Amino acid sequence: MPASISSVLIIGGSGFLGCHLVDHFYKLAPRPEIHILDIRPPPALSPNFYSFNADDISFHKGDISDPDSLRTVFRATKPDVIVHSASPVHGMGKDIYFKVNVDGTQTIVDVALEEEFWTTIKAIVYTSSASVIYDGSDLRNADETFEVPKVPLDAYNETKVLGERIVLAANGMGGGLKTCALRPSGLFGPGDRQLVPGMLAVLKTNGTLFQLGDNNNLFDFTYIGNVAHAHVLAAVKLLDSEVSNVAGEAFLITNDAPVYF
Ligand code: NAD
Repeated sequence: MPASISSVLIIGGSGFLGCHLVDHFYKLAPRPEIHILDIRPPPALSPNFYSFNADDISFHKGDISDPDSLRTVFRATKPDVIVHSASPVHGMGKDIYFKVNVDGTQTIVDVALEEEFWTTIKAIVYTSSASVIYDGSDLRNADETFEVPKVPLDAYNETKVLGERIVLAANGMGGGLKTCALRPSGLFGPGDRQLVPGMLAVLKTNGTLFQLGDNNNLFDFTYIGNVAHAHVLAAVKLLDSEVSNVAGEAFLITNDAPVYF
């Protein structure tokens, strides 16, 4: 019998992945209490793509770089599982990536490890990124043995690596907190504001008149529902005291075949 979650706090739950995380935790039986912590409220969602009733989900406005706001939400929601999926969008400056992905992640971990929360918060699942192992060259058949490059490609990747390390270093600390990190690649699916809209924008501005490379680039796109499902599986496995091979680990999340384009 898999372990059951009583209350999940989805940090960044108003985002693209966040809404699908809500949807997938909602389908769990027994269904946990579902709480969102985000700097912005969740968007209105099409019932064609999401099955949850928005009235069943509690939204808590807060910034992860503010420890008092985290304490207030942790006390109100009593999560046994935290899923940390918050991050600034692509294309922002270095400072904001460090503030949210590094300092904010450290603040979540520090507050979760305060003695007051030892008996409540049992697990943290961190949404990392497959880009943490990307060094600018094609990676074929990449797996978790691939090293993080010594020189990060950009500030986003640098801070996702640091965020992942902070969360994984907290595994086993405090009252026996369990943590893991999931590394999905480019996400697509309902609610996408970056990938397909970005490609369409390139088309509309005639950007396809120019070609970079030999038209043989390799990229891994992952369906958003699969990524959300992976987070639910990771959370359940972390709570399951019988399973020891998830805690403290990072996992690449992908569909079962690469996409060539
Ligand atoms: P998104 O921008 O749609 O969602 C991120 C959410 O985090 C937003 O709702 C935002 O308001 C919230 N947030 C930002 N700063 C915050 C703060 N200081 N405090 C609280 N909430 C804050 O992004 P997404 O595409 O859903 O990405 C979700 C996660 O997946 C991120 O951690 C991202 O790094 C990771 N990821 C995304 C992709 C992708 O292709 N989109 C690929 C790999 C990994």
